[in-house]
Amino acid sequence: MADTSALRRLMERISCGAGFSGEFRFAEPMASHTTFKVGGPADLWVQPALACFPECAGALLALAREEGVPVFVLGGGANVVVADRGIRGVVLDTGAWTGCEFRGTGEDAAVTVRAGTSMDALVDAAAGQGKGGLEFLAGMPGTLGGAVWMNARCMEKSISDVLIETEITGEPGGRLTLPYREGDFSYKKSPFQNSKAVILSAKFRVYRREPEEIRREAEKLRKDREEKGHYCAPSAGSAFKNNRAFGKPSGKIIDELGLRGFTIGGAAIASWHGNLIINTGNAAARDIRALADAVKEKVRASLGFALEPEILFVGDWD
Ligand SMILES: Cc1cc2nc3c(=O)[nH]c(=O)nc-3n(C[C@H](O)[C@H](O)[C@H](O)COP(=O)(O)OP(=O)(O)OC[C@H]3O[C@@H](n4cnc5c(N)ncnc54)[C@H](O)[C@@H]3O)c2cc1C
Repeated sequence: MADTSALRRLMERISCGAGFSGEFRFAEPMASHTTFKVGGPADLWVQPALACFPECAGALLALAREEGVPVFVLGGGANVVVADRGIRGVVLDTGAWTGCEFRGTGEDAAVTVRAGTSMDALVDAAAGQGKGGLEFLAGMPGTLGGAVWMNARCMEKSISDVLIETEITGEPGGRLTLPYREGDFSYKKSPFQNSKAVILSAKFRVYRREPEEIRREAEKLRKDREEKGHYCAPSAGSAFKNNRAFGKPSGKIIDELGLRGFTIGGAAIASWHGNLIINTGNAAARDIRALADAVKEKVRASLGFALEPEILFVGDWD
């Protein structure tokens, strides 16, 4: 547990200085904030309200730095495995910082999306406005902030393919707008993975499209995920990244080694998809980690290369 007096002081300072409103709780179980449904308590979980999110996020990062308290930013918890011992320091939850604003009609049409907005809410809002270009994100769990941080990818498209700029806070320069630069992003990589900044919002290119067409395509993609068993059990999506150098997708590599159904404790490789680690009901985070390590080791021993986990192991693992 981090120094509780530092955490209480931090909350007092943020309430007085930055006019905090929202929710916060000490020793908050992270299992209820992640799609894997595992994870012990965060020392302090803070979810600033919509009205004060940017100010509070910036103040929280600055005060935490002064108090020597680590901060972890949580979106939808759809790509993380939080340790059974939980997370030391503060978890800043973006969940209340939602909404999007559409501007322009022709070539310059764009949407600015707050970090806590879910992918489905964004796609539905775009359909309502008759703005296409973001349909590929339909059915993907998590938030916009997490998707930009991860450079999330589906249907052969990465979120960086439609990105115009990102607004962040917490860097020494305070609140900054960073235009998209080719070369900063690549497969499942974003520049934010090397920074402690909080993504506040991102702006994307969109184009005029019939609302019904957008809805039809989004529904098809959601149904496709359903049929592929994405939502059958708690998980964080693909367990391992793909790597062209390996000649085939990671799921196929795992399948061909006969590892579907391979189980450790309450964690298993899904019987219907080689690249999906699932919580069968009572998994501990350590079961998921042990299973990912075991699969990696089996692949290395049989084929001589190392799969790279896509799911992130976060929190207090030592
Ligand atoms: C059933 C299922 C299917 C999935 N399918 C796909 C898929 O097709 N393609 C794909 O790419 N992924 C997929 N995923 C994984 C997941 O949906 C994405 O990685 C998603 O973008 C994670 O977003 P999140 O908000 O949940 O991030 P989180 O899991 O909360 O966080 C992920 C990382 O982003 C950081 N982060 C989050 N928000 C911010 C912010 N505002 N500022 C700074 N850092 C932040 C966190 O600190 C963490 O390091 C799937 C997951 C599930 C459960």
